[in-house]
Amino acid sequence: MTPDDILTDNLSTREWQSIDAAHHMAPFTDYAELRAQGSRIITHADGHYIFDSEGNRILDGMAGLWCVNVGYGRNELVDAAASQMRQLPYYNNFFKTSNQPVLALSKKLADITPDGLNNVFYANSGSEANDTIIRMVRHFWALEGKPDKRVIIGRDYGYHGSTIMSASMGGMSGMHEQAANEADFDHIRPPYGFLYQGNQDEAEFAANAASWLEDKIADIGADRVAAFVAEPIQGAGGVIVPPAGYFDHIQGICRKHDILFIADEVITGFGRTGQWFASQTMNLAPDMMTLAKGLTSGYVPMSAVMVGDRVADRLIADGGEFYHGFTYSGHPVAAAVALANLALIEREGMIDRVRNDTGPYLAAALAPLADHPIVGEVRTFGMLAAIELVQSKDGPVMFDNVGAAGVICRDHAIANGLMMRAVRDGMILSPPLTYSREDIDETVAIVRKALDATAADLNL
Ligand SMILES: *Cc1c(COP(=O)(O)O)cnc(C)c1O
Repeated sequence: MTPDDILTDNLSTREWQSIDAAHHMAPFTDYAELRAQGSRIITHADGHYIFDSEGNRILDGMAGLWCVNVGYGRNELVDAAASQMRQLPYYNNFFKTSNQPVLALSKKLADITPDGLNNVFYANSGSEANDTIIRMVRHFWALEGKPDKRVIIGRDYGYHGSTIMSASMGGMSGMHEQAANEADFDHIRPPYGFLYQGNQDEAEFAANAASWLEDKIADIGADRVAAFVAEPIQGAGGVIVPPAGYFDHIQGICRKHDILFIADEVITGFGRTGQWFASQTMNLAPDMMTLAKGLTSGYVPMSAVMVGDRVADRLIADGGEFYHGFTYSGHPVAAAVALANLALIEREGMIDRVRNDTGPYLAAALAPLADHPIVGEVRTFGMLAAIELVQSKDGPVMFDNVGAAGVICRDHAIANGLMMRAVRDGMILSPPLTYSREDIDETVAIVRKALDATAADLNL
């Protein structure tokens, strides 16, 4: 069988699945389970819908994997890639070379990110960008004459990528079990109100959750702590929205102990929270920022580290060679696609729309689901949402077998035409920023059906 045989539509889904099972080890996959079930073969996508080889049309409530901010089938991005490939498909940036798309993108990112973030280091994935940050932060403190400041504090359920170092910085216990660098990383609890707030009011909980950082720094010793890293809203960890004021306390603590503050905006960037970046929505002044996903709306891989002036100035003044980079750092095609993507976000007013129209509309449309018998909490922030499933609202009482109800609910949603993700027993939405009110209505109707079907399956 040649590649062309497989690429044409002449094979059956069963045949495609058997090739997948025989030769493809997919990410974050239980291989035995996948082989038993067979993968869904996605054949094409358009607007807010993906289509599979069985003819199913599925509304993409996840924007791919939190990344297709401008929706599918946008010719502006396709044309930008094609024309850049014709002009300069590749050249490296290692040896005192650069290229125009990278210059234009760097200038643009410096303009739209918060003040004080004026330099960009490019990579291909969020994981690589975070690995870059780890090296840069340690190099920075060594240059400052404080080589012992090496520990980076992250949070449980934090997700910063899948390379060993970025996963170690993150707080996903399953990933740590399979390989982690335990040295020089530590973690605190997230400001996860649904689990930890109890009877505290929002301001109390914000101060209390931030004090976990203060305690951790005291344990380790500020002279050993290099940085604190946080997603403004924890995405893969379950759309954990911090209480108002949390990051004010956190930033105060970082300043007090001279600890760099790193905002991982891989999900929250590029309009998802109703500003270019959640740092603007939440009034954050990070020393460094991680960007990926929505940077290119996922059409091609690209990530970036925004380097704040304090770190950049030091590296420029006397850092010597920065021994780090990737063959495709500053790839001209990816940069051209990113520029077209950012231009489209601006031209169509997507950010204002999320802030003033679809974000509030999503919040209002989902809120009534909180009355559903198996829903413990609904939370949204811009175009991000989580619906926490519970065994009983009284308490609330969580499910014993964590994650099982979430998977049931997710599968019902997909069967009813909505791609939604489960994180533990939280149902997650992160739709394209081009989602309309009608798309939101359709989404909520399917979520309700999936909740009813899940409750029925569980005899609740
Ligand atoms: C997805 C994600 C990453 C990792 O990005 P990859 O491109 O998958 O390596 C890092 N940080 C956050 C917040 C993410 O959501």
